[in-house]
Amino acid sequence: MTALSFPNRRLTPTVSVGGVHIGGGAPVVVQSMTNTDTADVAATVRQVAELARAGSELVRITVNNEAAARAVPLIREALDAQGLDVPLIGDFHFNGHRLLTDYPECAQALAKYRINPGNVGRGEKRDSQFATLIELAIRHDRPVRIGVNWGSLDPELVARLMDANARLSQPAPVQEVTYEAMVQSALDSARQAEAIGLPAERIVLSCKMSGVQDLITVYRRLAARGNFALHLGLTEAGMGAKGIVASTAALAVLLQEGIGDTIRVSLTPEPGAPRQREVEVAQEILQALELRAFAPQVTACPGCGRTTSTAFQQLALDVQNHLRERLPAWRQRYPGVETLRVAVMGCVVNGPGESKNADIGISLPGNGERQAAPVYVDGEKVATLKGEGISADFIDMVDRYVTERFGGS
Ligand code: SF4
Repeated sequence: MTALSFPNRRLTPTVSVGGVHIGGGAPVVVQSMTNTDTADVAATVRQVAELARAGSELVRITVNNEAAARAVPLIREALDAQGLDVPLIGDFHFNGHRLLTDYPECAQALAKYRINPGNVGRGEKRDSQFATLIELAIRHDRPVRIGVNWGSLDPELVARLMDANARLSQPAPVQEVTYEAMVQSALDSARQAEAIGLPAERIVLSCKMSGVQDLITVYRRLAARGNFALHLGLTEAGMGAKGIVASTAALAVLLQEGIGDTIRVSLTPEPGAPRQREVEVAQEILQALELRAFAPQVTACPGCGRTTSTAFQQLALDVQNHLRERLPAWRQRYPGVETLRVAVMGCVVNGPGESKNADIGISLPGNGERQAAPVYVDGEKVATLKGEGISADFIDMVDRYVTERFGGS
């Protein structure tokens, strides 16, 4: 995978998670989370492997009880046996201090611990249980994500801020107090962790909300008030197009402002749909913003009344499928092939322009146009394809282009 550019990136300390770097100018990392019962070792290994093979560079699993804690080292072992070294992150709520104490092999098998400061403990126990978690991270030399979620904000902090706000002569709107509680919860917990001895190079923060504007507002404030590596994600983004669009809208604004060092797209899969969709969407967001390149891109026009045949849609699909099939082998042999740009256009209105702008492009004939398809390579017209074999001929030309441009000889 190729890193392209990093406009305005905040330079935070670099946090190493099992060898994967977060922050410090490293490429924005893609992560995901399983939805299997962690205690079901076989199912969890299968899903982690699918997510990792789809491109998830870190995978989070819930560690919610003793059976899950016992399963974690077995999951790690099974992944290693498959040659999959993707780091695992343990997600802890309420009993993390106890599970990590009682199951040191679990603590060791995980590359990072995620703790939610709103779910660490209540009352007097909160600080001591939080301190135990941080001390365990220090003992096992593991980084921690302090992950605030607005659905589980620390109720005591919220009550304190609400009371203080109510005493003001002009109280702020409740939404403002919520934003402040999110940011304070993350930053106060991070500073508490630093005071216990966990350095900033071991801390990642997140403040997840489910509203796009809320998320953007909170992360801008979080970034302005502390220099910790940040994990971005719109929580409970939802299903299908809604989840994808809402996540993209929120993450794109922040990433463009240089905010965000690792991302997760929290999609609710439709029944039976693959979990890997969230990884693909995260990659697409980073590639569309030109922050990273994961796979060759096909630019295709939507079609219109000028081209009533489906030939160009079929060609666009054939090219897309061909690139997807060849990519794993190409990655090994042709470094940088992820940056390849191919154009497949429906007629000569925008076809030649888009083709010249791509590395290699073709414009099929529209209605009433001469039955010939001009092909452009690196901005120059190099051939005109005709007849039944246009699709196969163009795919051959793409293969030759890849060999010559990325073959290194
Ligand atoms: S390139 Fe031609 S066919 Fe495609 S949308 Fe534009 S005008 Fe229509």
